[in-house]
Amino acid sequence: MAERDIIARISKRQTKKASGLLAGIGDDCAVYRPLDGRLQLITCDSLIESVHFDFNWHPPDLLGEKAVSVNVSDIAAMGGEPRYGILALGLPSGCGSRLDDFLDGFSRKLEEYRVLLIGGDTVSTGAGFMITVTIIGEVVEKNVCYRSGAREGDAVWVSGSLGEAAAGLEICRSAPSFKDVYPGLVRTHLSPQARPELGSLLARSGLVGAMIDLSDGLATDLGHISAESGVGAEVFQDKIPIAPETVDLAEKLGLSPLNWALKGGEDYQLLFTTAPESRDALLELAVAESFELHEVGRIIRGSGVTLCHGGERRDITYQGYEHQS
Ligand code: ADP
Ligand code: MG
Repeated sequence: MAERDIIARISKRQTKKASGLLAGIGDDCAVYRPLDGRLQLITCDSLIESVHFDFNWHPPDLLGEKAVSVNVSDIAAMGGEPRYGILALGLPSGCGSRLDDFLDGFSRKLEEYRVLLIGGDTVSTGAGFMITVTIIGEVVEKNVCYRSGAREGDAVWVSGSLGEAAAGLEICRSAPSFKDVYPGLVRTHLSPQARPELGSLLARSGLVGAMIDLSDGLATDLGHISAESGVGAEVFQDKIPIAPETVDLAEKLGLSPLNWALKGGEDYQLLFTTAPESRDALLELAVAESFELHEVGRIIRGSGVTLCHGGERRDITYQGYEHQS
């Protein structure tokens, strides 16, 4: 298929318009006008076949969904609203039906998050798919949430249960007979949900110190908050939210659900901190807006991430938990 035919297939799916968009797919650059008084957020993530995904178990349409969600998640983590997307595709020859399925899922998620595709690039690769998505978002200046905003005494929260994506990956990779038993876990691996509405709600609330999305696992992502904020963090092992299905599966496979939760990554929940005086307001907001919220730790003086269990303390900065129980 010629490059221009592929671009035509992509652009015919983009029927929506945005008031600030002056030129989308079809000119040398996209041209858009940012909303008044907003900061621009921009993020980019690549998915490479055989490195980041495997078509042996990844349906192309769910891969398309995931390619959007992992990027929108970064905008969510800054408290922003995703607006525009750019898609760079490296395609092997003869990928026609896979490409169509990929584009189906990709367009579906763009629409769900209200993102408009405004450009991209299309090239051939020797072998394998390469997908690079850029998302442009916007945020009111005073609401932007950096990794550097955590302070000693803050509480550490996550927005949902952890370890599901890692559990789902384990099923796909080495225990496919469990696919029908735990469809939710598999789904989280194949097409995780980003949380832009929650990210923006939290940012607007003014209650958040630091925020990040959980792409690399609690141990690593909290490590980023610690490093950027110049503080340490404690995680209370018993407070880490792990879904019953995740625990069940781990038991059946003889693996540690805690390990998945701490270092598995790809859950795309939000991890954030609040000052002690904001605690009640946050709990009220969670009830009023009915979002899930788990307090998993606190910010302390020092550096690094420490896992606390009973009297034991273990450094897990950037690494997670290797112990299998
Ligand atoms: P140029 O040679 O000027 O870079 P291209 O032929 O690569 O132009 O692209 C033509 C138009 O199609 C541009 O607007 C570009 O942004 C868009 N485009 C190319 N590939 C993609 C893609 N994979 N997804 C979305 N838009 C694309
Ligand atoms: Mg080009």
